[in-house]
Amino acid sequence: MARYRRRVLVLHDGKARAARIPRTHNVPGFPDGVAGATLLERMAEHATRYGAVLRQVEVTGAEHTDGCFKLRTADGDTIVGRSLILATGLHLNQIPLPDAVHEAAIRANVLRYCPVCDGYEHIDRRIAVVGCDADGAAEALFLRCYTPHLTLLPKAKAELSAARRAELAAAGICMEERPVERYVPHDNGFDIYLQGDATPLHFDVVYPALGVRQRTELAAMLGLQLGEEGCVASTCALGTPVPGLYCAGDIVEGLDQISVAMGHGAVAATRAHNWLRDHVDPSMDVTTRSIRP
Ligand SMILES: Cc1cc2nc3c(=O)[nH]c(=O)nc-3n(C[C@H](O)[C@H](O)[C@H](O)COP(=O)(O)OP(=O)(O)OC[C@H]3O[C@@H](n4cnc5c(N)ncnc54)[C@H](O)[C@@H]3O)c2cc1C
Repeated sequence: MARYRRRVLVLHDGKARAARIPRTHNVPGFPDGVAGATLLERMAEHATRYGAVLRQVEVTGAEHTDGCFKLRTADGDTIVGRSLILATGLHLNQIPLPDAVHEAAIRANVLRYCPVCDGYEHIDRRIAVVGCDADGAAEALFLRCYTPHLTLLPKAKAELSAARRAELAAAGICMEERPVERYVPHDNGFDIYLQGDATPLHFDVVYPALGVRQRTELAAMLGLQLGEEGCVASTCALGTPVPGLYCAGDIVEGLDQISVAMGHGAVAATRAHNWLRDHVDPSMDVTTRSIRP
């Protein structure tokens, strides 16, 4: 966007999912992988080199009035822009572990949340998928091309149709009926205690399949419709019913991946630039300004 010679303000609250990636191997151009934090630093350097301004603050309110977007921030500021790209991401539903233990398990690569991203790194490993429902079954079947050592574990109880059970059994995927009582991650694996068991099951890697919560509060404030999965429509990178508003990344229905988010971002930025050219008097071309109430 900044390379279209627009004034660009990037607001973020420091909670990007990308920052939690220890090392991704499926972002094009990084054959040896890249840490999420490094990728974010490089992207920030790239954007600021062309004049974008990055500011860390939580946005608590959004409205669209008089042809402008007005964003309220947690520190009491009001920010006005002519066009807005929402890329607010999502929250994962996680397994119950203290934050520090949970993040250490992610860094040790024994706790994974995205089989599409990193299933390849666990060929022939013993994998547990937590979530004995349709989503968990789909995730286990997806991982089956990487390993035959797969077990589906219920978070609370197994909720699988007879047909799904037959499909999993045919693929050689084990199913436990008792819920998980305790998770104990180690540097090189996971001990999982099922209800009533004193002896743990041991796995190399655990993939929770417990769903996500899209961060769509600002989208809803601006009147965007949310689909059944809680996302905005897949066309929202191209434009929304709100003039000048575009969406990108994980809040958009589809595959939650960095490469997809970048693609959305490119489309949304170009659409926003063209929309501004067509609809905003160039003499008013101040895409961001900050007003202290
Ligand atoms: C452990 C882990 C491993 C992953 N591995 C991979 C991988 O290997 N490859 C891959 O392609 N993908 C991977 N992903 C997924 C990837 O991180 C996401 O698909 C990608 O980050 C989506 O980008 P996004 O911009 O939509 O969301 P995010 O990266 O989550 O960014 C959302 C941004 O919105 C900001 N925000 C939201 N609401 C507010 C608000 N109210 N006020 C201010 N700021 C706000 C946040 O601060 C954040 O900066 C992984 C995710 C996790 C958690």
